[in-house]
Amino acid sequence: MKIGVPKEIKNNENRVGMTPAGVFELTKNKHVVYVQKSAGLGSGFSDLDYIDAGAIVLDTIEDVYTSSDMIVKVKEPIAEEYPLIQSHHVVFTYFHFASSEPLTKAMLKSKAVCIAYETVEDKDGSLPLLTPMSEVAGRMAIQQGAKYLEKPIKGRGVLLGGVPGVPPGRVLVLGAGIVGIQAAKMAAGLGAHVTIMDINMKQLRYVNDVMPSHVVTEFSSEYNIRKRIKDHDLIIGGVLVKGAKAPKLITRDMLKYMRPGTVLVDVAVDQGGCIETTKATTHEDPTYIIDDVVHYCVANMPGAVPYTSTLALTNVTLPYVLRLANQGWEKACEKDPMLAKGLNIVNGRIVYEEIAEAFNWSV
Ligand code: NAD
Repeated sequence: MKIGVPKEIKNNENRVGMTPAGVFELTKNKHVVYVQKSAGLGSGFSDLDYIDAGAIVLDTIEDVYTSSDMIVKVKEPIAEEYPLIQSHHVVFTYFHFASSEPLTKAMLKSKAVCIAYETVEDKDGSLPLLTPMSEVAGRMAIQQGAKYLEKPIKGRGVLLGGVPGVPPGRVLVLGAGIVGIQAAKMAAGLGAHVTIMDINMKQLRYVNDVMPSHVVTEFSSEYNIRKRIKDHDLIIGGVLVKGAKAPKLITRDMLKYMRPGTVLVDVAVDQGGCIETTKATTHEDPTYIIDDVVHYCVANMPGAVPYTSTLALTNVTLPYVLRLANQGWEKACEKDPMLAKGLNIVNGRIVYEEIAEAFNWSV
C-alpha cells in the first residue's frame, strides 16, 4: 500500500502522524511511505531521518495526497485540506466530527473512508488512541492553568501550591477519566487542594483509592458544581460522552458566581466544550476573558509539546496503521471489531450513529 504522511497545517500543530520508526516498520512490510518535506521537523525528525528509515520525501502536500492510498495524520483536516481528500483515500486521523458540521459534510462529499482515532475502542470500552493525548492534555492543563492564574496574565494571583503559612490554591476537575486523573495528579503534586467530580462511581472509587487525601472526590451534579465554583481557583473541564458533544456543565450564568481571575481550562473543547462560554482558541492566542473569568480552550493542547506527544501518539497508532496497510481497511475492520469502531464515514455515508445524532440527521 502507498501511505502518505502530510505535514500538519493547523495553527501551531507540530506533531506528525508517523515517526521514522513507523516508516521503518511499514517499508519492512513492503509498503511505500511518502512523507511531506519537513513534516517531522517540529517533532525533532529531519527529512534525512525519514529517508534513512525508507521513506520517499515529497515536496508538497498535494504530492503526498495524490500519490497515496492511505493518509496517516494527526489533526482533523481543516478547510484547505478538504479538496485534497478523494474517494480513493483511507484517512486515519483524529476527526472529532460531532463538533464540526463543515468537516462532516466535506468528508461525506469526498466519499473517502474516514477512520477516527478517537472512536477506535479497546475491549473494555476504553479509547486507546485518545488515551495518550488525554494524558498529555490532562498534565498540561495544570501547567497552563497555573500560568494563567498569575496576575500579569489576568489570573487571581494564586500560587497553586501555596507556601508555608498560606493555604494552597483549589482546583476543581470535572471528569475523572484520563484527562481528569492526570490533571488531578499534577495538581496534587504541586500541593494544590483538588476536588474531582464524575458521574461514574467506579472512577470516583478508583481516584479515592489511589490519590492522596488532599484530592477529594464528589459526585458530579449541577448542585455540587454550583457550590464548588465559588471557591475554586482553577477549573478543568475533562468530561467526555463518547462520540457526542460534551454536556455543558458550566453555564453562562455560573461565571458571575466565580471570583475574578478564576481560570477555566476546557480540555473538552474538541467535543464542543463542557463550559457554555467555551470557544476554541489557539496556542498563539490561547485565552480570552468573560466576566473576569479567564478561559483557556486550546483544541490541540498536545501540539505544544510535540516531542512528547508525537512519540506518545505514534506508539499506539502504529500497530493499527500496520494492520490497515497489511490487510486493507475492509479486512482489518472485519477481523477487529474494535478497530471497526473507528469507522465514522465510509464512501459518503455516516456509519457512526452519534455523529448523525449530533446534527439531528438520520443515518
Ligand atoms: P474519558 O472518557 O477518559 O473521561 C471522561 C470522563 O467524563 C468519564 O469518566 C465520564 O464518566 C465523565 N463524565 C461524563 N459526563 C460527566 C458529567 N456530567 N459530569 C462529570 N463527569 C462526566 O475521556 P478523556 O480521555 O479524559 O477526554 C476528555 C476530553 O478531553 C475529551 O473531550 C477529549 O476529546 C478531550 N481532549 C482534548 C485535548 C485538547 O487538546 N484540548 C486533548 C486530549 C483530549
